[in-house]
Amino acid sequence: MTAPGAVWVYAERHGGSFRPVSLEILGHARSVADALGAPLVALTVGSGETAPKELARYGADEVVAVDHPLLVRYDTKLFTDLLEKELREADPSVLLLGATRDGQDLAGRLAVRLRTGLTAHVTSLEVDPEKRLVGWVPGFGGGIEAGVVCPNRRPAIVTVRPGVFPAPEPRSSPSALRRVRPPLEDHAFGAHRVAFEPKGASVDLTRSEVLVVGGRGTDGDFARLQRLAHLIGGEVGATRVATDSGWVERERMVGQTGVVTHPKVAVILGASGAVQFTVGIEKAGFVIAVNRDPDAPIFEAADLGFVGDLAPIVDKLVAQLGEA
Ligand SMILES: Cc1cc2nc3c(=O)[nH]c(=O)nc-3n(C[C@H](O)[C@H](O)[C@H](O)COP(=O)(O)OP(=O)(O)OC[C@H]3O[C@@H](n4cnc5c(N)ncnc54)[C@H](O)[C@@H]3O)c2cc1C
Repeated sequence: MTAPGAVWVYAERHGGSFRPVSLEILGHARSVADALGAPLVALTVGSGETAPKELARYGADEVVAVDHPLLVRYDTKLFTDLLEKELREADPSVLLLGATRDGQDLAGRLAVRLRTGLTAHVTSLEVDPEKRLVGWVPGFGGGIEAGVVCPNRRPAIVTVRPGVFPAPEPRSSPSALRRVRPPLEDHAFGAHRVAFEPKGASVDLTRSEVLVVGGRGTDGDFARLQRLAHLIGGEVGATRVATDSGWVERERMVGQTGVVTHPKVAVILGASGAVQFTVGIEKAGFVIAVNRDPDAPIFEAADLGFVGDLAPIVDKLVAQLGEA
């Protein structure tokens, strides 16, 4: 068992592997743990031996795998119970989770159970001179960034947004692996699955090298953007207006509430460039913007700008690329 005060990372399972954000956090948490002078522990909950072995290659001092054949999918109450038990026994100083749907669900519940603080949706982490973890959260539409610490309770629970840290490379020397086999019965689950209907392939814009992003100015015609994205090998993203209008899925939202992306190229069509949106593209290598308003703030974030109606510009581009 790792000594009290360790830095723990919850590695969320997804299918046979892990959510990319969990590995991103684990990679970054190494420097956090070193700065705090604490060991680094990765905790995962699920079924099967392969995934914990894979996790052991990402630099933690120890991997704790809570493993049981019944733990094939996330269950709010059961996962909270299992994590609470592990955390109470190990008494870590920090618990980091991905700001995914399940990660946020768990983080809030654990913070209440353990009577500790939760810093949600951080975009960066640092250790201050007093050796406290500071989670930075953008607020007031990006106008300020607040540094949040949890000085009096532990663990300091922090959820981290996907895509803010780079994915680590696996290492050759694996971590120590500790298996925990909880005594579970079927009735331990808070909910019972009656049927399962997959919603289809999900998209992860944090992995895309090329993005074509549409805003209100597309007027909902995302088929036009799809054609362009297809030709340049990209994915389609959207502003909040576009996802709130139901023009594309919510998971394609880029920005403060959506995802922080770092594509090599981002083509932004008919988006004004609100700061809540531009935080999601500020790590892009090259930004091209089309807007019919020459004063639109998006041009401040763009490397190349076109003033005009996006429809004929995109159609012409699609035609020329199609010929090429
Ligand atoms: C707490 C909070 C969090 C938020 N999080 C997010 C977030 O994560 N992501 C996000 O996107 N927003 C977010 N928002 C909303 C954000 O503030 C903006 O309202 C939103 O980004 C605007 O979307 P838009 O640019 O598509 O629409 P608009 O601001 O309405 O801009 C539309 C633009 O399209 C241009 N246009 C119109 N027609 C054409 C045309 N035919 N050709 C070319 N240009 C055209 C217009 O000139 C205009 O500049 C958040 C807001 C809050 C308060």
